[in-house]
Amino acid sequence: FDDRDGWIWLDGRFVPWREAKVHVLTHGLHYASSVFEGERMYGGEIFKLTEHTERLFKSAEILDFEIPYTVAEIDEACKATAAKNGLSDCYVRPIAWRGSEMIGVSAQQTRIHVAIAVWDWPSYFDPALKAKGIRLTWAKYNRPDPKTAPVAAKAAGLYMICTISKHAAEKDGYTDAMMLDYRGYVAEATGANVFFVKDGVLHTPKPDCFLDGITRRTVIEIAKGQGVEVVERHIEKEELAGFSECFIVGTAAEVTPVAEIGEFTFTPGKLSLGLMDAYAALVRREEVVPA
Ligand code: PMP
Repeated sequence: FDDRDGWIWLDGRFVPWREAKVHVLTHGLHYASSVFEGERMYGGEIFKLTEHTERLFKSAEILDFEIPYTVAEIDEACKATAAKNGLSDCYVRPIAWRGSEMIGVSAQQTRIHVAIAVWDWPSYFDPALKAKGIRLTWAKYNRPDPKTAPVAAKAAGLYMICTISKHAAEKDGYTDAMMLDYRGYVAEATGANVFFVKDGVLHTPKPDCFLDGITRRTVIEIAKGQGVEVVERHIEKEELAGFSECFIVGTAAEVTPVAEIGEFTFTPGKLSLGLMDAYAALVRREEVVPA
């Protein structure tokens, strides 16, 4: 992904894509002192941009470092990076990390770097697969206890268990993996939150040990606006047998119906497909046509 044309915003200036490099002794690489965001621009506008930037700053604060810019400056830099690359529909990836001035667990004097890259990423999952529902297996790892890791941060270190779990799922022919939490409750996919449907009611895990996604909150708002009841609670793995529909949500995944999680099967129905379309319309600022 490093050998291509384009511009990356790095510490306040645009550098050619191939030259946006870091030193091998970067603290963020060795000790995961790195936080990032994932955003999408639709028709020239980044959906919930400031919410994402604020989360980036919050994640950095949780990891005990301070981003040397204001939220407004990073917002502007995200927009400017898309413009510089001539893109109006793209994925936006801001990242902040500790530099290479010191190496070791303690790294108080490291410089905090920020970069923003944008790229064309039409759909996280194959669109044909999407309406049919993707297949998930159970993840190798559980989401950690909030006493074990800074679970509210979108921190690079938390993705180690996601990558391992997703790779294992892909090797077995699945698209993604569903993770349980440290108590054994259903938590989330490796890069998206999850919803279930039962008797016209949406059920979604309470985000007390994983990211309360911006898409998750948006989908809850859309559903409630349509008069759909939404229950946020702990969900046992065995309960999955009683749900008729399932879908995952995230900036990259948007709303993606799920056909299977391990031994449990679902049929994408009116609620999943309706919310998939309503979300697509909202982010593109289009009128929602009621089903
Ligand atoms: N959980 C994880 C682990 C994620 O990586 C993401 C994507 N950022 C989400 C949930 C969904 O978050 P959002 O809707 O804010 O993109």
